[in-house]
Amino acid sequence: MQLSKKTIGSLPRTVKRPHYDLGTVTVGIVHLGIGAFHRAHQAVYTDALLSEDPSWGICGVSLRSPETRDALQPQDGLYTLAVQDGEGSDLSVVGSVVELLCAPEDPEAVLRRMADPGTRIVSLTITEKGYCHNPATGTLDEGHPDIVHDLANPARPRSAIGFIVEAISRRVSAGIAPFTLLSCDNLPGNGHVLKRIVTQFAEARDPALAAVVRNVASPSTMVDRIVPATTDSDRRAVASAMGLEDAWPIMTEPFRQWVIEEDFPLGRPAWEKAGALFVQDVSAFEFMKLRLLNGSHSTLAYLGYLAGAETVADAMALPGMEALVEGLMRHEVSPTLPQLPGFDLPAYRAELLQRFCNPALRHRTWQIAMDGSQKLPQRLLGSIRDRLRAGAGYDRLALGVAAWMRYARGLDEAGRPIDVRDPHAARIAALAQGIDEPDRIIDAFLTMTDVFGTDLPASAPFRAALIKALDGLLRNGSAATLRSFRR
Ligand code: NAD
Repeated sequence: MQLSKKTIGSLPRTVKRPHYDLGTVTVGIVHLGIGAFHRAHQAVYTDALLSEDPSWGICGVSLRSPETRDALQPQDGLYTLAVQDGEGSDLSVVGSVVELLCAPEDPEAVLRRMADPGTRIVSLTITEKGYCHNPATGTLDEGHPDIVHDLANPARPRSAIGFIVEAISRRVSAGIAPFTLLSCDNLPGNGHVLKRIVTQFAEARDPALAAVVRNVASPSTMVDRIVPATTDSDRRAVASAMGLEDAWPIMTEPFRQWVIEEDFPLGRPAWEKAGALFVQDVSAFEFMKLRLLNGSHSTLAYLGYLAGAETVADAMALPGMEALVEGLMRHEVSPTLPQLPGFDLPAYRAELLQRFCNPALRHRTWQIAMDGSQKLPQRLLGSIRDRLRAGAGYDRLALGVAAWMRYARGLDEAGRPIDVRDPHAARIAALAQGIDEPDRIIDAFLTMTDVFGTDLPASAPFRAALIKALDGLLRNGSAATLRSFRR
């Protein structure tokens, strides 16, 4: 039997379930990119509030494949959240996703829902590459194939950007105020970046439309919860604990954090009652999280993968890894962060190390390694820029960048192919093909100005630091390189 509204009553008492009438929930939020993270984060914060106000249900939209819709529609949108602390699993059923749409199959249905007056927020977790932007500058990539397509066919868009602008245009024509945009992706200034990109897109369509889009509310957010991709063994474990099949349960950790700028002209759920923090300016929180958590995650993912570690916890167990990550956070990243009065930074760093070591979360290094060209600028390169400006050291950060290059070339240390997932995978593979000398490999990578900007490739110290790090990795391998780090 499968989880659904009909079968939910048969769940064991230990499984928590929605305490509101599922039939009364209506759509107030359209979420683009209904992946694992959204279902462990925003959907959970929202679920906690639906008994107070059932008008904030979520319409989950996939912009790519029908997988999530196909898994969750037969379950009436219900799914299980398994919170794993290393000792056991705390299971609950989430009911806030009340509608599922697959944009490539029916873009019109998505646009209708986005243009509906009941929709007051359009939120996004579409991964960094979904923004169709230049990660080094945060501006729209007007040559991106999806953007070229959407400018030529505005009424049948493919990209999130095309959907947002067309939906706003329809709302304006119908005399309905635009929704609030809420980016929940790991991008610095995610709200500002999104606003800049949709405005640039609207300018290319119609200046009058751009004038409206420029004034749409687009608060920035900082999101945090580690959510690995679900595996078949997770599905089996959840089914056996629930006594019901769930096509797509979500596995996560106990920790969660959401900091949001207060700017919702059409209203919002009272997410603060579920633990979200509303602030005027989220940037200090974002820097802290992107540079400490995500910067560490990427570094340990590339080095860990190369050293044969399958998961983050395995990577943390490699001799030297914890010392490297701790030193990277304490000595190289923390001095670059803006002050957050009253915030206990050492405690936050210690908690991060503990979260990375959670053995119950099978967070694959390969998953974190994906899309490096889109992630490196905000995770590692921003910190390096600040260290260069301060005349301070950044060897550990440079090692993270060199490990990405080593990984992205596509062969592991035993010469086996790596399944490198990156929108620029082919370009990267071609970059340094047939070259073995570290300095020539670095020079080839530094031609990627969309990743490194023009300033970093022009910096002799940065180039030298990368060559040194890559040379060590190529000579000694990742495991031996890590062993040289001590706390
Ligand atoms: P996921 O793979 O489960 O889902 C990704 C979603 O993005 C899918 O719906 C996919 O269809 C969509 N997508 C991918 N490429 C796209 C494109 N080019 N255009 C439009 N949509 C696209 O991943 P996830 O775990 O849900 O993570 C998604 C994002 O959430 C991350 O990239 C990150 O920005 C943010 N996030 C994730 C975590 C985490 O631990 N998983 C933590 C914090 C933030």
